[in-house]
Amino acid sequence: MKIIVVGTGYVGLVTGACLSDVGIEVVCVDIDREKIRKLNEGILPIYEPGLEEIVHRNAQKGRLKFSTSIAADIADTDAIFIAVGTPEGEDGSADLKYVLAVADEIGACLEEYAVIITKSTVPVGSSHKVKETIKAAMARRGRHIPFDVASNPEFLKEGAAISDFMSPDRIVIGVESERAAKVMEQVYKPFLLNGFRIIFMDIPSAEMTKYAANAMLATRISFMNDLANLCELLGADINQVRNGIGTDPRIGNKFLYAGIGYGGACFPKDVKALMKTGEQHGHPLKMLEVVEAVNNRQKLVLFHKLKKVLGPDLQGRRIAVWGLSFKPQTDDMREAPSIVITEALVNAGAEVHAYDPVAMKEAPKYITRAITYAEDEYKALEQADALLLLTEWREFRLPDWERVKDLMRRPLILDGRNIYNATELAALGFEYHCIGVGALSGK
Ligand code: NAD
Repeated sequence: MKIIVVGTGYVGLVTGACLSDVGIEVVCVDIDREKIRKLNEGILPIYEPGLEEIVHRNAQKGRLKFSTSIAADIADTDAIFIAVGTPEGEDGSADLKYVLAVADEIGACLEEYAVIITKSTVPVGSSHKVKETIKAAMARRGRHIPFDVASNPEFLKEGAAISDFMSPDRIVIGVESERAAKVMEQVYKPFLLNGFRIIFMDIPSAEMTKYAANAMLATRISFMNDLANLCELLGADINQVRNGIGTDPRIGNKFLYAGIGYGGACFPKDVKALMKTGEQHGHPLKMLEVVEAVNNRQKLVLFHKLKKVLGPDLQGRRIAVWGLSFKPQTDDMREAPSIVITEALVNAGAEVHAYDPVAMKEAPKYITRAITYAEDEYKALEQADALLLLTEWREFRLPDWERVKDLMRRPLILDGRNIYNATELAALGFEYHCIGVGALSGK
């Protein structure tokens, strides 16, 4: 079997690498020549645990190749995955220009039947646009080669992408022909040996499933964050509430953690895109408007807490920040709460000294304000008036607290991810604030 994956970002590269790892011949194509040049030298453009090894192994075996041209490798291809970006357009809708550019390129060179699969997150109706674009490009060269389109939204989580791809909870596939279903079954057969299942459905439903999943997860986060803020006022503890409700099987215990809001390449843009779809069809999604508003507010909760403790004027205050990526185990900085928080801190006159285990190279591309990037977490703490924990990297979980205290000007910790123990830190002489724990709680 031979497959082309177009787009070598978080989704495309993981998809290509994992498919080649089960024995499929894969060509990963990207428009970014520099990316492809580096991949051909074995240098990965992203940080994703476990990915490098799989890429190297399969590239060495000759099963995984990198190219800048679809046409050059299209012969004998059974399926082409489109995994390019679908960023937020100016009006909040998903911008399909990259997806349709790929469709056009495919239509310009396809010579025999293949299934063209949209893996990028795209609004309902996009696969139809892909089909029409391919047909139009074929018509331009006077050809009518049979092909099918399919929708195969991706549910992997950055930071755990390899295990998510290799052992998926489910694989959702939208098809409109038996022939396409057979090809897709063939592609995913190696991943189904452990009993995971493919859920076949129609294409619009598959496209909607991806948005529904992300919107639901974003809703859970905003719901818990909203409640967390109320818990603080009432003297309740959101962590205890989470345990209380998470044990209800109807609710489940995942995605119930209060924090500083969701970020990343998916939730913010997908929530916006779904809202836009609703608006375009005369059905505004009121719930998601609130989910987004709560999230925007939540990103600044830690900043407001800091001002409450240190006073509104942060001029000359030195603030240590631990963690910049939007979540641990990734260098992805897209829509990370750290962008908003560091901007607010610098605007208020604070001097920010930040450290992240892997996102230090990516961070300056997103953080617009002048901050200092420290060489390690302890260096960031020197003479700090406060420490803000923004990303719950494992290595921040159990620091040398005595050293932390010695380095700081004021032993003040604001924990945006609720990973530290309040009683323990109080005993060590720290002033500690987290999310959603009221002053009365535990007394
Ligand atoms: P990304 O920005 O990391 O990668 C996209 C890649 O596509 C880039 O390397 C870019 O150069 C390439 N590209 C753009 N136009 C091209 C073209 N015409 N030909 C070839 N390559 C082209 O994006 P990503 O995070 O991998 O996301 C891709 C899609 O998958 C998006 O729709 C996203 O919403 C969805 N998705 C992402 C995740 C995630 O965790 N990142 C999870 C599920 C779904």
